[in-house]
Order: sequence, then structure tokens, then C-alpha cells
Amino acid sequence: MRILLVEDEPTLRAALRRDLECAGYVVDAVDNGRDAWHLGATEPFDAVLLDLGLPQLDGLTVLQRWREAGLAMPVLILTARDRWHEKVAGIDAGADDYLAKPFHTEELLARLRALIRRAQGLASPLLRCGTITLDTRSGRVTLGGQPVTLTSHEYRLLAYLMHRPGQVVSRSELTEHLYAQDHDRDSNTIEVFVGRLRRKLPPDCIETVRGLGYRLQGGA
Ligand code: CA
Repeated sequence: MRILLVEDEPTLRAALRRDLECAGYVVDAVDNGRDAWHLGATEPFDAVLLDLGLPQLDGLTVLQRWREAGLAMPVLILTARDRWHEKVAGIDAGADDYLAKPFHTEELLARLRALIRRAQGLASPLLRCGTITLDTRSGRVTLGGQPVTLTSHEYRLLAYLMHRPGQVVSRSELTEHLYAQDHDRDSNTIEVFVGRLRRKLPPDCIETVRGLGYRLQGGA
């Protein structure tokens, strides 16, 4: 899952980036509204963390412009405590949730998980596909109740597919959602990771759809 982090305060931005990466997300971070608008409009993100007080273009305007352009990615706004009118304005501008500063990382991560699964129409944080279970809260994967050890890359790939059971996901979509913009992207590596996942999971659970991509099998 790829997150756009928009925060102009350097210490908070660095801390949030670290927390998000530790939680298994791929992060693109920007420190101003203009870059946020551009990146959000040109790259696919699974969710956005958006500070409202930003240089060059304020967060509310960025959000309004994204929504006017038809961009529907989940957006969680970060507001100052006691600024209730900011929360109202943010939600009216198209935000999906808000969090007042200062906040606990655990709450931020829980809200993000909820936004990401709701965007895919999933109600539970426990994702199931056949005998595979993926707990988005702990990052644990089990197969028939037995724990499966995955690398962070393998986990990200499986988590992305398990948020889209039965859907065909192209290699380019996977590349875009599993790597940040500054990462050296090579879609061949996706094939390598799919191969590794197939060795750790039931081999037929990730179906190759010729010329289109991959589809997770086994029913939701
Ligand atoms: Ca700010």
C-alpha cells in the first residue's frame, strides 16, 4: 500500500514516515501544497495523510482540487487541536477522516487501515482468502492457522492482492502501489516476488492472467 504523506513540519514528517514504513507502507513524503497537489494528481495512492496548514497551497485547497478533478483516494486530514471548524471544512471538502494533533501513532495507523479497507468495500481488518488469513493490524499471515513468515516485500504484495480478492491486478499497478516514486522500479521484480509467495502459499492461489496480471484465488 502506498501512502502520500503531506506535512511541512520536518520532525513530524520524518517521524510519520518512519512509523508508516515500520507498519509496512510505502511512503512518498512532500512538504508543501503544490507538490502535494501534483503528486496526488499524477500518482496512484492507497491513502493520503494531509496536513492543512501548508506553504504554497493550503491543504484544504489541495483536497478540493483533487476532488474537483475526480480523484477519490481516501484522505485523512491532520488538524490542530481545538480547531473544530477545520474538521468541518475538511470533511465538507472531501476528507474521509481527520485526526487532531498531537495524536497517538496507533490511532493514526488504525484509522488508515480502516480507510484503506473501506475503500475496497472490506469491513473486517482480518482478510481471508481460502486458507490464507492476513491480519492488517499485526501484519501476520497464517495458512490453515499456521504462521507464514514473509519478507516485507512479500507481505506488501500479498496485502495488496488480499485487499482486491478475485480482481485482476496488473504488474504495472502492483509496481505503482508497492514502490515509492524515487524507487528504482522494475516490473520484473514483481514476478520474482509472486514466485516466492507461491512457494510459501498454496501454489495455485495466485493465478497468472495472461497479458493482464495476477488474480488471487480462493474466494473472499
Ligand atoms: Ca503545517
